[in-house]
Amino acid sequence: TAEELWTKLDDYYDSHLVAEDEALIEARRAREVAGLPDIAVATNQGKFIHMLAQLMGARRILEIGTLGGYSTIWLARALPEGGRLVTLEYEPEHARVAEASVARAGLADVVEVRVGAALESLPGLVGEEPFDFFFIDADKVNNPYYLEWTLELGRPGSLVVLDNVVRGGQVVDPDVHAPDVTGTRAAIELIGSHPRLDGVALQTVGAKGWDGFALARILA
Ligand code: SAM
Repeated sequence: TAEELWTKLDDYYDSHLVAEDEALIEARRAREVAGLPDIAVATNQGKFIHMLAQLMGARRILEIGTLGGYSTIWLARALPEGGRLVTLEYEPEHARVAEASVARAGLADVVEVRVGAALESLPGLVGEEPFDFFFIDADKVNNPYYLEWTLELGRPGSLVVLDNVVRGGQVVDPDVHAPDVTGTRAAIELIGSHPRLDGVALQTVGAKGWDGFALARILA
């Protein structure tokens, strides 16, 4: 099938380009052993956001949606000395698994996992130094609100990565009204219409199927 071929290609690229070390492999294993859902970014997507954060020279990263900390580890490893990553997670059990994996990766001093609904945790970040990079990967229904929060917590030039904006094509299927899909549409339309945001979306295929991500840059 097409999906098997996409996965085979991901495996081929990863075998040459993406070396997962013990801590990343262990983070994936810990997520699985704990019975957390299999919805982390793929290995190459992890490296992709890691490289984006490096290219941005990000010193402060905010992640919304931690799960078992797999993407968290990729992102935290992009930080320079003295950098910091805050990640927001609703499920205490997910946060516990993530904290253990982050600690095994030697990043406990860099990463802070805040437990609770992100919309309740976000106001607590006002007044801190601005974040340079945002990775939004939680409940898609709230994506427009999370985007609004990046304008509050970022700075001109900050980058926002919004994951899962294709969802197997559902985003343009007029018969689909699921909250994750309507939230995604609203987020894309907000990026397109907001005077302080500029953005683009790309479709992807691979081990995670047919999906994609959007990038938004804070203008002013
Ligand atoms: N970024 C992770 C990775 O790639 O390794 C995957 C995150 S997973 C797709 C989404 C996570 O968001 C889940 O762990 C879920 O519990 C969490 N979540 C869902 N609703 C949330 C909310 N309102 N606030 C914070 N986290 C939430």
